[in-house]
Amino acid sequence: MTLMYCGLELDRAANRRGDRAWLEEVRASARVLPLWRDKCLVGATCETSDFEVFLGMDGDTAVFAADLSTMELAATGASEAVDVRRLFGTISAEEAATLAYARGILHWNRNQRFCGACGGATESREGGHLRACQECSKLLFPRIEPAVIVLVESPVAPKVLLGRPQKGGFCTLAGFVEIGESLEDAVRREVFEEAGVVVGDVRYQASQAWPFPSGLMVGFRATAVSEEFTVDGVELAEAKWFTPDELRAEYPCTVDSIEGHLVREWLATA
Ligand SMILES: [Zn+2]
Repeated sequence: MTLMYCGLELDRAANRRGDRAWLEEVRASARVLPLWRDKCLVGATCETSDFEVFLGMDGDTAVFAADLSTMELAATGASEAVDVRRLFGTISAEEAATLAYARGILHWNRNQRFCGACGGATESREGGHLRACQECSKLLFPRIEPAVIVLVESPVAPKVLLGRPQKGGFCTLAGFVEIGESLEDAVRREVFEEAGVVVGDVRYQASQAWPFPSGLMVGFRATAVSEEFTVDGVELAEAKWFTPDELRAEYPCTVDSIEGHLVREWLATA
């Protein structure tokens, strides 16, 4: 199955978006998605702004995202501004993927207006997929922040370890990848830091675009070397091994994140 916010069907046309004349030509008959401060606009009448990003081609139709963030909400004509995650279950996976992509790329542009090296202003290039510093010429590419999410399995029985943060319910263990780590290194470190569990085998399962604002979730299964654990008391308040029946009874498998996918896949074979 396709995970939410993935499986974009647009052709990104990455090899053409550096051609300004072509972008102007396809813009004339484009479909434009208006967004406002990371949110989707319901019923917006204003669909043009001073900043637009080329998302890709839907057949012969170009699709752009327009950032209306500098306007007051009322001026956009929209009745409401909602986060794409709130539309989960009411729109198709394809629509969700396009809106999430639009949200992420507009967020990056809005937050990369200045160069991190010299502080100079940056300008948009490549239809909004690259910014160049006007002072030092440094090229800035959209940044993606990978995080690992891991379902830890028991070495002796069909059980998985979930942790409960200080606020909220039980969930899989997860954390950001640090500089100098492989994805597998990050899995081992996070599981040990949060739950005091050493894992042996680490197996990649799937990944999910998570542009809220710039994540990439990479899902793994890992096998603990024993069922002993010690929570850190900071990130996790407690942890618990769940049998398949306990998991079915207590875990909300309907979540839109890859976490739900990892749990459902495990339950299907447990
Ligand atoms: Zn610079």
